[in-house]
Amino acid sequence: MTTNAILLEDGSTIAYTLKRTSRRRSIGLRISSDGLIVSAPPRITLHELNALLQSKTPWIQQKLAEQEAKTLPEIAWENGQKLLLLGNPISLYLAADAKNRAIEFDGATLDVRLRTPDDSDVIRRKVVQWYKQQALADFTRRTALLAQKLGVEMPPVMLSSARSRWGSCNSRGEIRLNWRLIQAHPLIIHYVVAHELAHLKEMNHSPRFWAIVEKLCPDYKKITADLKLVSNQLHAMA
Ligand SMILES: [Zn+2]
Repeated sequence: MTTNAILLEDGSTIAYTLKRTSRRRSIGLRISSDGLIVSAPPRITLHELNALLQSKTPWIQQKLAEQEAKTLPEIAWENGQKLLLLGNPISLYLAADAKNRAIEFDGATLDVRLRTPDDSDVIRRKVVQWYKQQALADFTRRTALLAQKLGVEMPPVMLSSARSRWGSCNSRGEIRLNWRLIQAHPLIIHYVVAHELAHLKEMNHSPRFWAIVEKLCPDYKKITADLKLVSNQLHAMA
């Protein structure tokens, strides 16, 4: 086993572990928690290997990003913790106060004053509640704008905490959006809202449905891929 690196056009490198094995007849690529692992038969030269890895770089980078997202650390509910809001990093500031105060936010710092600033459960509940308030206001505003654009009546908008889905639309025309999306880039929220609104016209995932989504959100294919990448990170806040 040796450690090597793929040299990219921009001068950066991707490290990988090379395993030479006569059991293989072709080159195999695998992403593990330690990064990229390449298995290759002995007869393949480093030159050939490098050419193949260069051609696979987009796939490798995508998979490495997915792996990294999977192994993100949990949120520590303590001073200085970085959180996400609308795709921007913000920091948590905790301080003791004689009474629990409403959270204040100046665009960069979430200021939380509590009688018990080291009770992580209380902090988490308070911050999540604040995120839910921001989520409902933001999602309602976006839904109203897109509903008007689509020419449908403004549907009831509710928050969900689903583990497995970002949004849903039921047969009564109610839209549920996962509050955790408020952590994501606005384009991602825009896409999920557009997706659920499109279901008011097409209760399926037919080509006609996707044509409506595309009208509201031309970049939806790239954005769904982006959402997949950040999905684990968004779920870190529970
Ligand atoms: Zn759908």
